[in-house]
Amino acid sequence: LEGVKDISRIKSAELYEKAKTFFPGGVNSPVRAFKSVYGTPLFIQKGNGSHIWDADGNEFIDYCGSWGPLILGHNHPSVRNKVIEVMQNGMSFGAPTALENELAELILTNNRFIEKIRFVSSGTEAVMSAIRLARGYTKRDKILKFEGCYHGHVDAMLVKAGSGLVTFGETSSAGIPKAFADETIVIALNDKDALLKAFEEFKDQIAAIIIEPVPANNGLLLQEPEFLQFLREQCTANGTLLIFDEVISGFRVGFEGAAGYYGIQPDIITYGKIIGGGMPVGAYGASAAIMSNISPDGPVYQAGTLSGNPVAMGAGIAQLTELLQPGFYEELDRKTAAFVKDIEDYVAAKGYELKIFRIGSIFWFAFTQQEHIRRADEIDAGSMAHFKIFHRELLNRGVYVGPSGYEVGFVSGVHTADDLEQTKKAIFDSLDVVYQN
Ligand code: PMP
Repeated sequence: LEGVKDISRIKSAELYEKAKTFFPGGVNSPVRAFKSVYGTPLFIQKGNGSHIWDADGNEFIDYCGSWGPLILGHNHPSVRNKVIEVMQNGMSFGAPTALENELAELILTNNRFIEKIRFVSSGTEAVMSAIRLARGYTKRDKILKFEGCYHGHVDAMLVKAGSGLVTFGETSSAGIPKAFADETIVIALNDKDALLKAFEEFKDQIAAIIIEPVPANNGLLLQEPEFLQFLREQCTANGTLLIFDEVISGFRVGFEGAAGYYGIQPDIITYGKIIGGGMPVGAYGASAAIMSNISPDGPVYQAGTLSGNPVAMGAGIAQLTELLQPGFYEELDRKTAAFVKDIEDYVAAKGYELKIFRIGSIFWFAFTQQEHIRRADEIDAGSMAHFKIFHRELLNRGVYVGPSGYEVGFVSGVHTADDLEQTKKAIFDSLDVVYQN
């Protein structure tokens, strides 16, 4: 078996040692610490197009894309130029600017599923606000979420299923009062019986059901459209709001996100990542009637010093304008489909136990033979040992993916045919190492 040399991580290791003296775990967000893969975290120095370079000068073709926002790749000229243009006039006023109108108009005129929007600064903030809005609007307290969906580090969402079909959650982080977790009901994805039981047990108490319509934070747990439709119907029947958390799927599986992809009207949608072109932005939107509950129009308080700040709005405007070019999503889908198909063919020819799940430009390698994985508990934790080797081999061959087997990858509009060819070769060789052929 032909091995390749491990990449040099001397500079990254030095930076990491220093970072550990400043930050818990040496990082400002936990997954960056490379806890479930080999080696020290890579410190990234620059990105351009589909490529990134680390502090040791290693070059990679990037499929993490800052965890989803960079659908146009790194440092896209339209986004960069717009940001520079906006910055000539200052960076924050805490007062309204025309740029907020411009980004809102771009979104609302091209999205049939929301009528009004509010900009915030992260996905977590968007979800936190959406939950408060749902509670304020329905005058109910309980929220139902699904095991295997991530909604940011909101107290009410850091809750995992207990044992049993329908359970009050147990907190999945220290520091969250049990009383908060008691307001969150957690059930499995793709489980209609559990949902019906929850509505029965907590009749007239559930303010909202929140779901990632494309669950992409714990593998890619693609749901049957029929299940999402069932949620819609049950929510309507029970006076419960349906929240689609589209922080990943928004502007990714199409300009109208998963709502548009599946043709399902949620009551509130949260956005993040792509909407800010790489700057810190989140948003939530709903019908004008529901949004009229937000302050200063209504009684649900929500605010932000840097909300809608001009630089972030500029980046969002530039990026979304590119995404509205005719054929953008079709081309992205076509090239990702072809990329995945070639890998599937290789895997089939070699008889490897690997399944690649995909929707649009989102993909996930699952070291399994299961035809479908729709629930978190259907993922074999043991398969992550394969991912760990795969990740190291990919890095050694110049391909960067997120440092966890539960993370999805993203193809961007600027990945070239050459990039994808080179990546496939790296994937084939890495799989050969994983399976020792
Ligand atoms: N919701 C979903 C679906 C997400 O994927 C994420 C982030 N991965 C969040 C919420 C939280 O967003 P942020 O990290 O910007 O707070």
